[in-house]
Amino acid sequence: MTELPPLREVIKKYGLSASKALGQNFLFDHQLLARIAKVPGQIDGAEVFEVGPGPGGLTRALLEGGARVTAVERDRRCIPALEELGGYFPDKLRVIEGDALEVDAPALFAGKPHVVANLPYNVGTALLVGWLSAAWEPWWASLTLMFQKEVADRIVAAPGSEAYGRLAVLAQWRSTPRIAMGVHRSAFTPPPKVMSAVVHIVPAAAPDGVKLKTLEGLTGAAFGQRRKMLRQSLKGVPGAIEAMETLAIDSSRRAETVTVEEFVALAKALS
Ligand code: SAM
Repeated sequence: MTELPPLREVIKKYGLSASKALGQNFLFDHQLLARIAKVPGQIDGAEVFEVGPGPGGLTRALLEGGARVTAVERDRRCIPALEELGGYFPDKLRVIEGDALEVDAPALFAGKPHVVANLPYNVGTALLVGWLSAAWEPWWASLTLMFQKEVADRIVAAPGSEAYGRLAVLAQWRSTPRIAMGVHRSAFTPPPKVMSAVVHIVPAAAPDGVKLKTLEGLTGAAFGQRRKMLRQSLKGVPGAIEAMETLAIDSSRRAETVTVEEFVALAKALS
């Protein structure tokens, strides 16, 4: 295979100055990108859905790992650069210009792709919440997502910690998230203000008889007043006080001490 041009040359050639409005902070470190590309596990021959490829640093690493990549990028300026990259990996890269929040991702795949993304944090969180809230079984095999460290901590947080809240329960009731690696802010060009982390999420079996809406209603009420006792914060949720009694969940506890399993049991009782 002909050697790929250095990423910085690609940036120069296509005039890809980082746009603040599009949340562009690019990664150039080949070793770091190769490590991120390994987070989903064995990707040789696997389908990968990459969101926000930008100039294609992570895309390269995924292609070099043997994946077949479908990449959705909103910034039109990046498309020719990505198409040039595709020329080095015939039939392995499909580039779609579009907004990942609007693209019908499941329709793009016959099987279940691994999702990999280094996105602006607001877009990443919106996509994650959407993907975790959709009908189960999910259309994806795993999610490998870069977040600011603080958001990554909230996704994997355990009860009793400051970071534990709605996002932790949403992420953990039917999937298993872990922080795969931290990424220093200096790895990005330009460097963002905060540290980042790559989160790896694999789906788990959803507990029977639990409605997501009920669970979200409970966590919304409980964490909406996280310093209050449950008997106070859940007062407005019909049946919650009785369900706590039945399940022997002490109503003088606060939301942040309630485990995911306990929230699920409560939601089940109310569903
Ligand atoms: N993946 C590249 C890397 O690691 O160097 C670029 C990362 S940069 C943080 C985020 C990328 O997501 C940018 O290329 C940006 O244009 C793109 N992006 C932002 N919002 C998007 C959206 N809604 N849909 C698709 N791509 C988006």
